[in-house]
This record gives sequence, C-alpha cells and structure tokens, in this order.
Amino acid sequence: MKNSPISKITLEGREFFVKRDDLIDPYLAGNKYRKLYTLLNTQNTIYDTIISYGGTQSNAMLAIAAMCKKKKWRFIYYTKKLSTLQKNENEGNYADALILGMEHKEIENNYYREFIASLRLNLDDRTFVIEQGGAIKAAKQGLEVLAQEIHEQNKAFPTTALATPSGTGTTALFLALALPEYRVYTTPCVGDSAYLKEQMSALTKIPSNLTILEPKKKYHFAKPYKEFYEMYQRLHVKGIEFDLLYAPAMWQALLEQTNEKIMYVHSGGVSGNKSMLARYKKCFATKVAK
Ligand SMILES: *Cc1c(COP(=O)(O)O)cnc(C)c1O
Repeated sequence: MKNSPISKITLEGREFFVKRDDLIDPYLAGNKYRKLYTLLNTQNTIYDTIISYGGTQSNAMLAIAAMCKKKKWRFIYYTKKLSTLQKNENEGNYADALILGMEHKEIENNYYREFIASLRLNLDDRTFVIEQGGAIKAAKQGLEVLAQEIHEQNKAFPTTALATPSGTGTTALFLALALPEYRVYTTPCVGDSAYLKEQMSALTKIPSNLTILEPKKKYHFAKPYKEFYEMYQRLHVKGIEFDLLYAPAMWQALLEQTNEKIMYVHSGGVSGNKSMLARYKKCFATKVAK
C-alpha cells in the first residue's frame, strides 16, 4: 500500500498537519489498521480463528471483523451481557461487525473477568487472541511502517512533533519508540495518566520522547460532552471528520498545552460516529428541554 496522505488545517491561527490514516479503508483504518498490520500480512493458513473481547462500540472490534473477513478467519468476540437496545441497534460498529461475519458471544457479567483471564488456557496453535483494543506487541511492526511513512513525507511536511490520542496507549508508545527524534504527544481518553502509564509499561519501557498531556478536566470514556461535540464540529468544518471518543480530548490538549508545529496522526474511528452522534442528539435535546 502507498503512504496515507497528509492534509493541512488551521485552528486558532495555528497550522497543523494531519496524517490521514482515516482514509486507508472504511472499516480497517486508523491506528487499528496499523496495530493489525502484522496479522494482516500473516499468511492466512497460519490461523483459522481470531478471538477478542471488549465493548460493542469498539473500533478495534470492527477492524478485526474486517480483517477476518479479508483473511477468511473465524472471528469470535466476547462481551458482557448486552441490553436489548444495544442488540437491536441497526447502525454503528456492532451492526457492521455482525454483517462482516463476527460471531458475538455474551458472558454473564459476574463471570466475565474470570472468563477473559482464562481465554488463553486451552488454545490450539491456529487460534490467536487479540487483547482488548488491540493492545498487542505485534502492533510494533505496523507502527514502524507508519514511522517510515512519516520519514518519507517529512520533506514536504516538516515537523518534529506528532500527536495521537490514547486508549491503551499502544499506538502512541510504539510510534514514539519508532521515531526517537520526534516528540510524540498523547493524552489519556480512558482513565487518567497514571492508568495510561501502567498500560504502556505492561507492553514495554516508556521512552523519554513520549509526552502525556493531562486533560484539564476529568472525562469519562464514551460519555457525550458538549465541548467534545463543539471540537468535532470545529474540525469538521475545516474538512476533516474525526472520531468523537478520542480526538476531541487530544485536540483540546494540543490547543491548550502546546505551541509548536504538530502533525496529528488521525487514529480513525469515524465509523463509530453514527451511533455516537445519535446519542449526542438525544442527550442535548433533553438538556435543552430542561
Ligand atoms: C482505539 C483508538 C484509539 C486508542 O488507541 P490505543 O492504541 O489503544 O491507545 C484512539 N483513537 C481511536 C479513534 C481509536 O479507535
């Protein structure tokens, strides 16, 4: 595949570059494409089944479903019990993943933790387990490919600082490791900085060129916030759609806490916006009515 393109946008008088990993594929895009790169390039006879687990809004879930369809692998995805409302949702990541062939299995909430902890115990060697959110060491290679692209595009788009938001921190961590001459900014979107550092440290030692920006306010993951929606819109009118779960917090932190020239690495996730925008609509309609 050729390098993903780079766009320029101006925000608050500052010019930013945006590495358009969102344009790679409708489902298998953004950092999930990078994190699944090694598996995508594995001969499909090596495995026959991929197992993963997590939430049903997950962008990783959808990307894995798209990968498994391409590779003709069976995909089993475990979650806690779903509400009828969630089950009947006919658009968004969950609905799309089912269409791509995902087999969904619900685990009783009481047994969920134990069940996930035991997933690896009786595996045959043609089954591969992907940790929640794609937090796997195999992600390293895909982020090295991204680093190589950034090197190749540096002449046309010169910067020494990159930014990308964190869930597990896998993306930001391996990107920083692959580009030691760049500063890599990230911000925790799931939990706080201490939790993010813990997650990263489980994968490998955190390099010194990785800077974690602490959000000014405490946000709960995947909850609708008015300022997130406003940030989403400010960016959308500039011509680029970002996700509503991670990107707004990263952009907020960049605008408030940095001042150098930055290349934002688009982490994808736009496919999840449909169901998220519906929630925003509902949420803010009630707030206005109050
Ligand atoms: C999964 C995801 C992230 C978080 O990536 P990590 O490697 O887990 O830190 C960020 N942005 C989007 C849009 C995602 O889907």
